[in-house]
Amino acid sequence: MRLILVGPPGAGKGTQAKRLVEHLGVPHISTGDMLRAAVKAGTELGKKADELMKSGQLVPDDIVIGMVRERIVEPDAQKGFMLDGFPRTRPQAEALDTALQAADVALDAVILIDVADEAIEKRITGRRCAPADGTIYHVEYDPPPPGVEVIIRADDRPEAVKERLTKYHRDTKPIIPFYESKGLLKRVDGLASPDDVTKRMLAALGI
Ligand code: AMP
Repeated sequence: MRLILVGPPGAGKGTQAKRLVEHLGVPHISTGDMLRAAVKAGTELGKKADELMKSGQLVPDDIVIGMVRERIVEPDAQKGFMLDGFPRTRPQAEALDTALQAADVALDAVILIDVADEAIEKRITGRRCAPADGTIYHVEYDPPPPGVEVIIRADDRPEAVKERLTKYHRDTKPIIPFYESKGLLKRVDGLASPDDVTKRMLAALGI
């Protein structure tokens, strides 16, 4: 199955993507994770992305499009994939379409996890990340186990969250009508427990 997961920052895309890929047996392709890995490794790309990411800005389309183009042709992605955090702009969605057409494959569905801005701001301020393996916790809903070191990601600070939400409304939302017009969009209400959201997603996919 070839899927895209869309939603505002903090809607639970990362958590849900991990659950869904286990269920479906396809790779989880997160551009945010790929970029954070590049920053950690100190590559040229990582150096370019670091400042933009810290302040909640988007990394330029050509960089992420190139990364995804290379990733979706790897052997493990031949049986399908779950894209998380990509496409995030209309040009990225169009470039993905072109790449998929060239590979003679098609998307099965685009799942939108819908959560209102006010709920997002509340959720993100409690979010913590374990730098060791990237696991995301929440001080209230999913506290880190004792002894696990966690930090607040720079882009989870309130100023950056506001910036990311503004970017989401301005840059990412236009991809929703793009996929809606292709009959691929499945809307899922994200304001529920992680288990319930997973159930809703599976139901939306008819699984
Ligand atoms: P995420 O983990 O998906 O929230 O991504 C974290 C940050 O990485 C974003 O705030 C952007 O700076 C950058 N990023 C991730 N995916 C993309 C993308 N598709 N286009 C542009 N920037 C991205």
